[in-house]
Amino acid sequence: MNQPLGQSGARMLLKRLRNVMARGGTAQQRLNQVVKLIAADMVAEVCSTYVMRAGEVLELFATEGLKQEAVHKTRLRVGEGLVGDIASHARPLALADAQHHPLFAYRPETGEEIYQSLMGVPILRGGRVLGVLVIQNKSRRQYADEEVEALETVAMVLAELVASGELISPEELRPGDGNALLPVRLEGVVLSPGLALGTAVLHSPELRLQQLVAEDPDHEVGRLHRAVAEMRQAIDQMLAASDLAAGGEHRDVLETYRMFAEDKGWVNRQVEAILTGLTAEAAVQKVQNDTRARMRDVSDPYLRERLSDLDDLANRLLKHLIGGEAADGVRALPDDAIVIARNMGPAELLDYDRTKLRGLVLEEGAAASHVAIVARALDIPVLGRCLGLLTKVSEGDALALEGDHGQLFVRPPEDIQQVFAGSLRQRALRQEAYAALKDLPAVTLDGVEVTLNINAGLLIDVPQLALTGAAGIGLYRTEIPFMVAHEFPDTERQAEIYRKALDIAGGKPVVFRTLDIGSDKVLPYWQRAEEENPAMGWRAIRIALDRPAILRQQLRALLLAANGRDLRIMFPMVTEVAEFDACRSLLDLELQRGRQRGLPLPEVLQVGAMVEVPALLWELDELLSRADFVSVGSNDLKQFVYAADRATPSVNDRYDLLSPAMLRLLGQIAAASGRFATGLSLCGEMAGDPIGAMALLCLGYRNLSMTPTAIGPLRVMIRSLHLGQLQDYWSRLSGLPGSAVRSALTAFAQDHSIPV
Ligand code: PEP
Ligand code: MG
Repeated sequence: MNQPLGQSGARMLLKRLRNVMARGGTAQQRLNQVVKLIAADMVAEVCSTYVMRAGEVLELFATEGLKQEAVHKTRLRVGEGLVGDIASHARPLALADAQHHPLFAYRPETGEEIYQSLMGVPILRGGRVLGVLVIQNKSRRQYADEEVEALETVAMVLAELVASGELISPEELRPGDGNALLPVRLEGVVLSPGLALGTAVLHSPELRLQQLVAEDPDHEVGRLHRAVAEMRQAIDQMLAASDLAAGGEHRDVLETYRMFAEDKGWVNRQVEAILTGLTAEAAVQKVQNDTRARMRDVSDPYLRERLSDLDDLANRLLKHLIGGEAADGVRALPDDAIVIARNMGPAELLDYDRTKLRGLVLEEGAAASHVAIVARALDIPVLGRCLGLLTKVSEGDALALEGDHGQLFVRPPEDIQQVFAGSLRQRALRQEAYAALKDLPAVTLDGVEVTLNINAGLLIDVPQLALTGAAGIGLYRTEIPFMVAHEFPDTERQAEIYRKALDIAGGKPVVFRTLDIGSDKVLPYWQRAEEENPAMGWRAIRIALDRPAILRQQLRALLLAANGRDLRIMFPMVTEVAEFDACRSLLDLELQRGRQRGLPLPEVLQVGAMVEVPALLWELDELLSRADFVSVGSNDLKQFVYAADRATPSVNDRYDLLSPAMLRLLGQIAAASGRFATGLSLCGEMAGDPIGAMALLCLGYRNLSMTPTAIGPLRVMIRSLHLGQLQDYWSRLSGLPGSAVRSALTAFAQDHSIPV
């Protein structure tokens, strides 16, 4: 009978392992000793270590039990065979009948046909798979969970030794043919656009654990508790830090960390790991490895965010345990850092010196993730879902991040670097030119004035008003602070954010759009029923009208924040005029409440609606006679008009906003708003595209709201344009397909020296 390794058994094994390490001999001799020792302790006939070479091939480096002639000969690609599967998923496998598993890849040179059961775990470090540690048994053996855990603990110790060059000389890790040093191009998903050229900085690489195995568990538990207390204190200090307090949303994020830092289950798991014989820091890393392994299998976005918060927290805790320079969070960064990570939380991004941060690349990550939202607000290019990133990129590698089409060039050749450097210089020159023009009005050569507004969603966006010289905020997406919070913000919390936004805007108008949650805007703390078609589901004011308390609370917060100042409120996803009326009535109730309590109410209160659902187009007159203003949400309007999901590139790019249907429709909205003298703007992506904006000007739009980086190019375009001339030309384009209209407008711009 095989006895599962309990805590004390694991402790003994670690101790013996340390003794082997302390003995002299070559790296190979020590590795041979290690596999022998593990085989004996785990009552296995075989123990083998496979080491990753060139990030692609797992080579048998040492074995007890398999044929020795297979050592350094047997190789498996990542994903190939059971060993390759463990590496590709970075998770353990324990199989009583491994031989009949569909992934089993037989290698005759190993003589492994006589072993029925197999248990293997990845050798992980800093999120990278360095190799695989395997035991095998002749008989069918059901490995216990405790045994998997014990092998994982041993693998963790091996990982540190591999990384420190103690077990396997660093030369051995380098590919014989130099493969890993060749340039590599990786693809990813653009989470924030832009270009960057710089040096790879691995997000959590520098924490080299000196001591892994400890003699005195009580002492280690004490160290752990002290470090947790220190970390909590540091988080409290961050919460109190003035610049973070100003960015109200970041505080929410940090409060999430604190909540987790108080989580007893998390700390208890670390204590349990200490009791198996690890030092406190090794125990934290062990639990972190487990969390990462779990993260790989979780698809629920809420859970993934939470697990990634735990991952962040473990990094912080490690820094406190290791002490010294790492603990204060200050890290020497190259001047052109491109940070490489599996995933990270937004607060971690903010820990980096923004003046040196050029870009971010994530192996995971999603457009709606908090870090992507914050990176977009900071105008840092981000690439996500970049598979193989952590195995292909090493600290200090040169990188070129092409965040417009989703490519990362690793160790790019000189010519590619030069192209990037040239483009970056051009961009910088253009930005300087835009900044110099920021105080000039956006007026065409024939005197037509255009109002340029920015879209914002976080308080860190608001200073862009001053930097770009925009007239105001045409769309404040209030759901974004809700998306980065850990719980539904109460009235006072909301009011604080809106108050600060108005303060920073310094009297420039801000259009607050009420909550547009649902669809792609997921609130992590709000579990909702799955929907087949969330974009057309229970979202925005549909939720608000079914749960009026939510909308009333937000309206109350807006009135409180305005405190007598002018206020503009806009309702999203209005589908019928009756819905607009219902929202207005809720606002009236809040106004009445404010009046009764003697609260200062806005002198000017404008109430508007987004025009983004086609049904509303047939009730436009009724809407325009009631609303103070409307704003066309071309992003949603396009997806509903063309029945083409905005988040699916294959259908989204298929339809052009300049096609006859859309142009006619946009023209009708402009004409109707003119008849009712109702304010009109457009705040979808189309507004920030110079060619799209040229079309909108022809159709009568004079107020455009866009991402802040588009303001400069649009101002330049408008100031070089003679709108009268363009309108003459425009009348000849009627009825042409979208692509033809786009080419014609581009040609007009070229002929008239209009930068687009
Ligand atoms: C739109 O739909 O065009 C819009 C501006 O709103 P959002 O992108 O936030 O849905
Ligand atoms: Mg919309």
